[in-house]
Amino acid sequence: MSRVARLAASLSEPLLVTDGVNVKYQLGFQSSNCAVLVEPDGKATLYTDFRYLEAAKAVADVEVVQTRRDVAGALSELLAGRRIGFEASRISYAHWQMLGAGGAELVATRGLVEAFRLVKDDAEIDAISRASAISDELYAALSQEQFTGRTEKELAWWIERTFRELGADALAFEPIVASGLNGASPHAHPGDTVVHGGVLVTIDMGCTVDGYCSDCTRTFAVGEVSQQLVEIYELVARAQLDGLAAVSAGESGVDVDAASRTAIAAAGMAEYYGHGLGHGLGMEVHEAPVLRPESSDVLAPRNLVTVEPGLYLPGVGGCRIEDLVVVTETGCEILTSFTKKMLTVG
Ligand code: ZN
Ligand code: ZN
Repeated sequence: MSRVARLAASLSEPLLVTDGVNVKYQLGFQSSNCAVLVEPDGKATLYTDFRYLEAAKAVADVEVVQTRRDVAGALSELLAGRRIGFEASRISYAHWQMLGAGGAELVATRGLVEAFRLVKDDAEIDAISRASAISDELYAALSQEQFTGRTEKELAWWIERTFRELGADALAFEPIVASGLNGASPHAHPGDTVVHGGVLVTIDMGCTVDGYCSDCTRTFAVGEVSQQLVEIYELVARAQLDGLAAVSAGESGVDVDAASRTAIAAAGMAEYYGHGLGHGLGMEVHEAPVLRPESSDVLAPRNLVTVEPGLYLPGVGGCRIEDLVVVTETGCEILTSFTKKMLTVG
C-alpha cells in the first residue's frame, strides 16, 4: 500500500498536510511551499507554486494544482466551506488564520502522519544504518586527531568537513563539541575554548543519508583525567547499558528512561542527569517516540530511538554516551558501533 493510501485509510475527514517533512514522507516531494490534501477515499491533491511545479508533476498518483506564492491564501479560497483537518502542532498561528479566512471549517489534528513515520520500513532503516556507519567511521578518525591546542569550533569544523568527505549528504545538526567545564551544558555550542589536557570532551554529532539522520555521542578523555571524571564516565556508561537493556517492544518510554536512572540515583547523582534518556529519530533528529519521565509512548518494533544518558556537573564537567537503536520484539539492535570504552586522545 502506498503511504498516501495508508494515511487515507486512517482518516475520517480530509487532512491538509502542510508540514514539509510530512509532505516529503507522504509523496517523496520536497518543497518549502506546498500542501497536500489527502482524502479518506485515497485522493491526494498537491498544491504548490510555480517554482516547484515540474517536480510536483513527477509525483505519481496525485493531482497537482498550481497556486500563487501564498499557498495558504490560495487554499483559503479553494477549501472554502469544507471541513478539513489540519496539522495543529505543525502550523503557525498566522498560517492557521490565513487558511480559515475563506470560511473552511478547520479541525485540529495531531501526529497523524507522524504515527506512520515512527515505524520505519527497511529502506528507512537502511538509510539510517548507513548514516550511522559514517558516524562510526568519523569517530574512528576523530579518535586519532590531536585535541589539545585546538578550539571546540575547530574540532566542530573538522567534523563537518569529514562527514562530507566520508559521503554524508549533509549534517543532521550542528555538532556539539563541549570540552571541560562546557561539558556541564548538555547542548553547549562549540566555542573558542581551547581544549587542554585533563578534561573530558563530549562530541554529539550526526549526518544525513538519503534524507535520514544519524545521531551519536561519545565522550573522550584528553590526556590523563581525574579519578572523579573517570567515575563520572563509568557511571554514564553503566546507565547507558542499563538503558539499552531496557529497550524492547512493549516497554513504555517511562520505564526505559527509569532503567537508566537507577545506577545514577544510587550514586547520589540523580540531580545531574536532567534530561530524558532518548528520542525517536528519522527524517528529523527529534521524532516520536520519546524516552523520558513524562513520556506517554510505548515502544514498538521498528521504532528508532537514541539511548543517551549523561551527567553534567557545574564546575566539574560532563559526559554523555549515545547510541542509536532499532527496537525489536525482544530488545534492540544497535546501529552505532564505535567503542564506548573511555578513549584517551592527545
Ligand atoms: Zn545526539
Ligand atoms: Zn540525540
